[in-house]
Amino acid sequence: MDHPSDLVADLQRAHGDAPPSKVVSVSLRDLFPGRIAVVSSFGAESAVLLHLVATIDPSTPVLFVDTLRHFPETLAYRDRLAAHLGLSDVRSIGPAAEEIAQRDPDSSRATWDPDGCCAFRKVAPLTAALKGFDAWISGRKRFQAVTRLDLPVFESDGAHIKINPLARSGAADIALYAKTHRLPPHPLVAAGYPSISCAACTSVVLPGEDPRTGRWRGFEKTECGIHRPTDNDFVPAPSSGK
Ligand code: SF4
Repeated sequence: MDHPSDLVADLQRAHGDAPPSKVVSVSLRDLFPGRIAVVSSFGAESAVLLHLVATIDPSTPVLFVDTLRHFPETLAYRDRLAAHLGLSDVRSIGPAAEEIAQRDPDSSRATWDPDGCCAFRKVAPLTAALKGFDAWISGRKRFQAVTRLDLPVFESDGAHIKINPLARSGAADIALYAKTHRLPPHPLVAAGYPSISCAACTSVVLPGEDPRTGRWRGFEKTECGIHRPTDNDFVPAPSSGK
């Protein structure tokens, strides 16, 4: 295949304005059949993307990075949602025991080096798992944070094409879809967590705050490293609202 950077503009032009279900369908069936995976955190809004995927092909590989620092509610939700949607190939990947013993033996790294913690707990395992694929699908959306305002539907990600079918969807679209299809919510959403990652790095978000403000609160860190900020991103002041 051509280098991903040569394909992105064509894909964006051809399919970038299509509805999310069409983007998922074209990606799974026509563009990358057998060579594409979905990456899901089984977080606050994961159910919508996973439902779209399950409707088209429930045997699609779904990669879940189990950092071993997740809320127990997230692990239970992963199993419940996968069963509910009939997803048959959910793969939990994560750091090896030797890596943890060497890099974070007392599980404190998130408090003094979150970049290093994400690098070995999230980025390295996912990078290894994606080696067998040409493309992957993410659930990111523009409305989630000021750092994602320019998120395209198709983007180049090293050797891969990354596809964001919900990039242009609004919060109301996501909520309506979840309601229409009676998708089970992550149990922590009702407790004030609109964006959910590892327990050590996720806090309650107050009304009016950017939904991702509760991630790595107190650090100038906005992404775990799996996703790079878009080119004109900026880091909002910690106290700024939406
Ligand atoms: S989100 Fe926090 S605990 Fe999880 S891998 Fe990143 S720094 Fe570590």
